[in-house]
Amino acid sequence: MDTPLLIAGGGIGGLAAALALARQQIPSRVIEQADAWAEVGAGIQLGPNVVRVLKSWGLGDALQEMASFPQMLRVRDALNGRMLGVLHFDSQFGLRYGAPYATVHRADLHRVLLDEVLRQYGIQPQLQRRIERYRTCADGGLEVELHGTGAEAVTEQLQVPMLIGADGLWSRVRKQLLPGEAEPRYSGILAYRALVPQATLPACLRSRQVTAWLGPDLHAVQYPVRGGSHLNVVIMIRGPRPEDLQDWDHAANAGHLRTALQHTALPVRGLADAIASWRLWPLCDRPPVRAAREMAQGQVALLGDAAHPMRPFLAQGAGMAIEDAAVLAQCLQAQGQRPQALQQYAQQRWQRVSRVQQRSIRNGGIFHSTGWLRWGRDTGMRLLGERLIDVPWLYGQCVV
Ligand SMILES: Cc1cc2nc3c(=O)[nH]c(=O)nc-3n(C[C@H](O)[C@H](O)[C@H](O)COP(=O)(O)OP(=O)(O)OC[C@H]3O[C@@H](n4cnc5c(N)ncnc54)[C@H](O)[C@@H]3O)c2cc1C
Repeated sequence: MDTPLLIAGGGIGGLAAALALARQQIPSRVIEQADAWAEVGAGIQLGPNVVRVLKSWGLGDALQEMASFPQMLRVRDALNGRMLGVLHFDSQFGLRYGAPYATVHRADLHRVLLDEVLRQYGIQPQLQRRIERYRTCADGGLEVELHGTGAEAVTEQLQVPMLIGADGLWSRVRKQLLPGEAEPRYSGILAYRALVPQATLPACLRSRQVTAWLGPDLHAVQYPVRGGSHLNVVIMIRGPRPEDLQDWDHAANAGHLRTALQHTALPVRGLADAIASWRLWPLCDRPPVRAAREMAQGQVALLGDAAHPMRPFLAQGAGMAIEDAAVLAQCLQAQGQRPQALQQYAQQRWQRVSRVQQRSIRNGGIFHSTGWLRWGRDTGMRLLGERLIDVPWLYGQCVV
């Protein structure tokens, strides 16, 4: 049997990679710096391109239990509540893309991936260890240095054949792979997130559909998770750069949010008023990937947010990490644990993830637009309807 390759990070991307590899009999070891698995992250939308991958991994039943399957995406004007366009997630949509549109709690998806790697493949991610640095040895392998992040002050050196950096936006693996690169950039947008039991909301604010509310310099997205028992709400507004960008999960000042929403329609303002507890995420990203070498070199590859952190305006960050994992496993299965497999992975992925990053940035501008651009957006949506909201090049491409 091959020596296990090392995966830095046990988020959605790292666990998806461990699972995809294990399904191809490729052993891996997952290293996670956190003390414990936390319920972070609120909701995640999964387009049919992602649901297809999860189903191909045998997770269809688990998804059925934990996800919600909205029947439509409604786009509405955040100021006057007018309906701008609708994309139906009906049987035609299911037939077109071979899978439904799903919405989940990040922690539920994480738990399903963790259970699967643990129970089916005996992979126990190692907590409280941070991948500090790596170096290439004379024999072509890698020596990776790990530091303990808990009470134990340990340093370990591991010899591994390959390293997959799934260590998120502030990736240390990336820093070494692409030295001299600038830090992730602040997008100028703050995301207020909340997850509430629907039963605690006034009946008029409960919802089983995905609704995007578009307004000048702001937008809000709401959708059900946990089989519809909870509503996930994200409200994005322009805001100054917080001091500590890396500590992304702040308790939010709901007063600021309510002031920013004072001119919005009642269903938007109502959510801000009805929900007491908000978390704040300053949205950061990097410029879109420009070449395959930004995703893999030699025995090291990047995956998920470490490779292509993106703005959430296409709701595909976790989805792209899951697709990365599927393609990585296919390439390693076909080529063995050789650098060529990682080059092939990067070649197959970089243009798609780059396009998703670019489109996410563009969507942000369109969602938050004012003046003539806003008028053009609304008119386009009225005339073209579903055709403008649907994303066939994204949802339709099969990576597995
Ligand atoms: C407001 C908002 C809404 C979003 N909505 C959606 C959506 O609807 N759909 C969607 O698909 N995506 C969405 N996303 C994006 C999605 O959450 C991320 O793209 C995805 O979770 C990234 O997963 P990852 O595993 O690559 O990174 P992470 O989740 O950041 O995981 C990285 C892991 O690595 C660990 N780590 C870091 N450094 C080290 C180290 N040196 N050694 C060991 N471990 C380390 C971290 O502790 C962490 O557990 C949204 C994001 C935001 C902010």
